[in-house]
Amino acid sequence: MSPVRVRIAPSPTGAPHVGTAYIALFNYAFAKSQGGQFLLRIEDTDQTRSHPSYETAILEALRWIGLKWDEGPDIGGPFGPYRQSERTEIYRQHAEKLLLKDGAYRCFCSAERLEKMREEQVKRGADPKYDGKCRTLGDAILAKKLKEKAPFVIRLKVPKRGKCTIEDRLRGSVTCEYKDIDDQVLIKSDNFPTYHMANVIDDHLMEITHVIRGEEWLPSTPKHVLLYEFFGWNKPEFIHMPLLLNPDRTKLSKRRNPTSIFYYRDAGFLPEALLNYLGMMGYSRPNGQEKFTVEEMISDFDIGRVALGGSVFDIHKLRWLSGKYIRESYTPEKLAACMAQWRINSEYFSKVMPLMMERMETMGDFMPRCSFFWAGELDYDAEALIPKKHSAEETAKVLQSMIAGLEHEPVWNAAMIEAKAKEMAKIWEWKIRDIVAPLFVAMTGKNVAPPLFQSMELLGPHICRYRFVQAIEKLGGMPKEKLAELEKELEERKAKLNPQPQPKPVEPNPEAATPTEPENRPPDATPPEEPPATV
Ligand code: GLU
Repeated sequence: MSPVRVRIAPSPTGAPHVGTAYIALFNYAFAKSQGGQFLLRIEDTDQTRSHPSYETAILEALRWIGLKWDEGPDIGGPFGPYRQSERTEIYRQHAEKLLLKDGAYRCFCSAERLEKMREEQVKRGADPKYDGKCRTLGDAILAKKLKEKAPFVIRLKVPKRGKCTIEDRLRGSVTCEYKDIDDQVLIKSDNFPTYHMANVIDDHLMEITHVIRGEEWLPSTPKHVLLYEFFGWNKPEFIHMPLLLNPDRTKLSKRRNPTSIFYYRDAGFLPEALLNYLGMMGYSRPNGQEKFTVEEMISDFDIGRVALGGSVFDIHKLRWLSGKYIRESYTPEKLAACMAQWRINSEYFSKVMPLMMERMETMGDFMPRCSFFWAGELDYDAEALIPKKHSAEETAKVLQSMIAGLEHEPVWNAAMIEAKAKEMAKIWEWKIRDIVAPLFVAMTGKNVAPPLFQSMELLGPHICRYRFVQAIEKLGGMPKEKLAELEKELEERKAKLNPQPQPKPVEPNPEAATPTEPENRPPDATPPEEPPATV
């Protein structure tokens, strides 16, 4: 039997997600309980959404929580490189092989054609899917197109008939019909692979024996199985873990809960408590113990004990567990040292001090006036958030638009946050002070505090984000339908402010045929609307 090799393969497209740490932990526990290896591979093939700072953050977050990998982009290893953007030549060569084996074909369809096709399919209630026009291009046409250097993508040639059966360790046989599966783009017109292609090739070349990943990838697995078959490779064993859920049993989302690992770090949770809590998600140890170390988890780990159905990630239960660690596993000295490493240190104080000196008469004024820098949750009334002449609903909209504006900024600094606030004031036709007032309360719990934007910079994006979410909750929340309406309204308002026509993309983008499946979804994105697999 070959040695166990598993991997975590995050995409650096956003803040490091607790779901990534959850899947990493189960991979790690599985590998270490079998004397195997645990790899970290960065899947950065989505060039538009990947950012090196997100990669650094993933590594930092996994280290903070206490997981160590045996091979990875930072430490190398015998199967490197471990960053997919450095492996494009490998994927290109494999795509050539696949074309020769008739497992794939070139598609020259224009973005316009694909968009039209998609619209028609949606109109008649069908799942958007490529219609296969280029599957059977004659040799002469193909040669002509290649000579003309017409842009193309390479698509998987999914059989028109038959069934695909996946064996999943936790779910048994999962079967679906090939006719329901799209001819997935494998290589994009920019020569970059999509997630599916790169993921399968790397799992094979890196000798991965078990693919342990989130349930949201189950609908993609038939495409992966097909690739293994076309290449003539042995398949790894598939283990799709249950999803993490919000308390209302919807998929864990940052709209409702803090999902960034860094939120928990910055809010002062103990890393071992968070890791322990993730180990309780859909899993119980044979002895029923709730508080356990990773070593204890490994000592009697049995992946077969993972319960399907999803597990609620309950921040209150996590707080309880963190408290248990403080009481049972810490001495006052150890806790003090830990807090000093966190934010109770001269480095952090020295950043807060310049903001506070104007606002202090004695040193004793310091703590009561700026405790919000260290506080986990803030205590204030919803009323305090609502500026005169505006409603709770309008205020929630403005705060939500602030999140939308800040969302894709990898680094939050005071000037940038201020610029966004000003932009929102214009967009919503609010006075800037009416925007700043609810922000003050949402971020600090007070109407009087040190300079807002600098304070937000110091609090950091993870704490600020959750404070936005909590403020919006206090104002009545922002359900999905309202959010969709708001996004539309925001676009319209922005367009009114900047009425230039949007430039049309020049490059055909044949991937537009499968818009429901971005090739590298962050773990909390909506899963692809592929046909459901039937058990
Ligand atoms: N890059 C994928 C992700 O972001 C990896 C999925 C897998 O493990 O196959 O989650």
